[in-house]
Amino acid sequence: MNRRTTMYDHRIVAKAMDLFHFEEHSPGMVFWHPMGLRVFRGIEDVMRRVYQSHGFEEVRSPIALSRSLWEKSGHWGKFGNNMFVVDSLQQDNSLDGEAQSADSQAINLNYALKPMSCPAHIAIYKAHKRSYREIPMRLMEFGIVHRNEPSGTLSGCMRLRQFVQDDAHIFCREADLLDEISNFLNMVQELYAAFGYEKFIIRIALRPEQRMGSDELWDKAEAVLMNACQELGYAYELSPGEGSFYSPKIEVSLEDRLGRSWQCGTIQVDFNFPQIFELSFVNSEGKLEQPVMLHQAVLGSIERWIGILLENQGALPLWLAPVQVAVASISNKSADWAEAVFARLKRMGIRAELHADDATISKKIRELSERKVPLIAIVGEREAANNTVNLRRLGVSAQEDIAFSQLEEELSSLGNKVSVVR
Ligand SMILES: [Zn+2]
Repeated sequence: MNRRTTMYDHRIVAKAMDLFHFEEHSPGMVFWHPMGLRVFRGIEDVMRRVYQSHGFEEVRSPIALSRSLWEKSGHWGKFGNNMFVVDSLQQDNSLDGEAQSADSQAINLNYALKPMSCPAHIAIYKAHKRSYREIPMRLMEFGIVHRNEPSGTLSGCMRLRQFVQDDAHIFCREADLLDEISNFLNMVQELYAAFGYEKFIIRIALRPEQRMGSDELWDKAEAVLMNACQELGYAYELSPGEGSFYSPKIEVSLEDRLGRSWQCGTIQVDFNFPQIFELSFVNSEGKLEQPVMLHQAVLGSIERWIGILLENQGALPLWLAPVQVAVASISNKSADWAEAVFARLKRMGIRAELHADDATISKKIRELSERKVPLIAIVGEREAANNTVNLRRLGVSAQEDIAFSQLEEELSSLGNKVSVVR
């Protein structure tokens, strides 16, 4: 990709908004600032609501898991070069001899930082004997994952070594697959629309050279994905050889205004892990049955999602902006009304800032615009006398004199605009 064709560079926008930065001592990992974490949490909140409304339960699992588990899942052999291994942990010299030898087994174990949460969610599934009444079981996690990407490929938030993804797994019957894939595509539509993306592209990534499991299972899994897209009326392209080592997948990509394609969501039909990990549930006849496993992410990496938003829009939508409204007073004479406006916005749950200091109004407007604050409510004596504000919208040169009640109305309808995300 030629970076020079980029309309906005997300790193420059993020700096202006004070969202995050990078450090040489943690390449490919983000240091989130307070304003950035507001955005991150805003996205998580929306996703949490969508996931819950579609029948998922949130879980949390460890970041480090032992080598033996990764060997069993096949990640160690087929994905090992991309994993951060915690190797030969230092002996703890503070322990005396006896304690040291008792602890040595644990100390000498190899761990790897998870590149995905599948084995951990399998462990949660296997923590109990499961009944058909619990199937489909849908688990999701904001999974902190690590992938050891080559340093030359790292690029701001777009390619990282540590990121958070909506990492979800469904354990279901084969007969449920169409419904679950349909559920996934509905979630994609709802969530993408909330961020202003109406169109997306679907690719089906087929079996790679390096893979586990029999060709019969791959035939079956690939057919399920293609049939589902056909039945649900989604056009798709095929990507031969691009599937993951344990399953084929549907990949959902966004195309931006420059024609660049960004792969975000994915769902994968997996017959292999249920066999390897001997998953089962008791069916309605009282017999043990093996579930099928689906791996899914709707947005994928949240960091990358934020990067894409900034690259495409050069700012953030009003509902997601870390500061939604800045109230700026023209002089001391209007400070009381500025404070009243600010207090009322805060009571509404709006992320607002008050700028009632002595700086000139033009300086305040310039600084707030540089920080990409979507709404600046300018308050002078005239506004104070009329219970109005002079509203300046980011990127719009005209200003509007509006009654404060009208601003309240506009802001209170924000919740509805994101109501796709009930
Ligand atoms: Zn998975």
